[in-house]
Amino acid sequence: MTPRRRIIPVFIPHMGCPNDCVFCNQRTISGSLRPVKPEDVHRVLEEARSACADAELAFYGGSFTAVPEEEQRALLAAAQPFRESGFLTSIRVSTRPDAVTAEKLRLLKDFGTDTVELGAQSMDDGVLRLCGRGHTASDTVRAAALVRDAGMQLVLQMMTGLPGADPKSDLRTGELLAGLGPDGVRIYPTVILRGTALERLWREGKYKAHTVRAAVSVCAPIAVLFQEAGIPILRLGLNPTEALSGGEAIGGAYHPALGELVYGKLYLERARTAIRALPRIPPRLTLLVAENRVSRMTGLGGANLLTLRWEFGLEEVRVRGCAFPAETVAIDSKL
Ligand code: SF4
Repeated sequence: MTPRRRIIPVFIPHMGCPNDCVFCNQRTISGSLRPVKPEDVHRVLEEARSACADAELAFYGGSFTAVPEEEQRALLAAAQPFRESGFLTSIRVSTRPDAVTAEKLRLLKDFGTDTVELGAQSMDDGVLRLCGRGHTASDTVRAAALVRDAGMQLVLQMMTGLPGADPKSDLRTGELLAGLGPDGVRIYPTVILRGTALERLWREGKYKAHTVRAAVSVCAPIAVLFQEAGIPILRLGLNPTEALSGGEAIGGAYHPALGELVYGKLYLERARTAIRALPRIPPRLTLLVAENRVSRMTGLGGANLLTLRWEFGLEEVRVRGCAFPAETVAIDSKL
């Protein structure tokens, strides 16, 4: 089989972070707190070379542009032989909005970095303050413009259900981030991780957990607004890991298939609308969706089909994939 292009993540846990944000525990998310060295970068790229034809290197889990410049240079320099050989086609870094300057972006570009992911998290300054982020929404606006001016790809990360946030402020964050014209977004509903300040706030009754159900309902309209703006959602929900599933996620919106729950909800809504628009609801029907959207329409464990049968008194509902545009649902009354 032809090896495929892969994203090679290198986690730089908390490197460059001036403090710990209340919700963050990179040991749990990235599996380690050991600072990353240039030889680690070299090793993972060397290993990847035997597994795929070309790759993208991604520095995640810290504030890359806030790491001392010499360390940034050393980490990026370790990747250069792989760029020169053509194996590494791009590099991306994740960082804080207040750690972005034109000069820092120039350094990244000199080493072939083409994408910057900004942890915006919220565009509500009150929420940012309660989370101990140490930056404001205007830092995100400024940093996004600098990334754009530098001719780099911009990815924005946001969270829902943070301390002080509500569905309205989360939706507003989505709107404001969409207005910055990113090339992609990541949405992370808040999970309470063991050992964080958020765990303490939650145990003291000062923070109400963002449940999976609440996250699905808050994220559904946010996902629609990004879809309608043509902005790809690169990730919805934390990547499931053994640590998270094994008890490190002690509350909040952790679900290994959170994105599928959100997208399933959107398809359920679209099917409801299509069924209601029928002049007469038949006892059996088939939902027509794009080939690669059948599972979203079906819902986890067939939940959407059960709901539709129950709500509309249907005897049978099926889903069929066909050459349809994504996000469209039509009805075939002949089962
Ligand atoms: S959320 Fe980002 S900036 Fe905050 S502590 Fe974690 S890695 Fe650092």
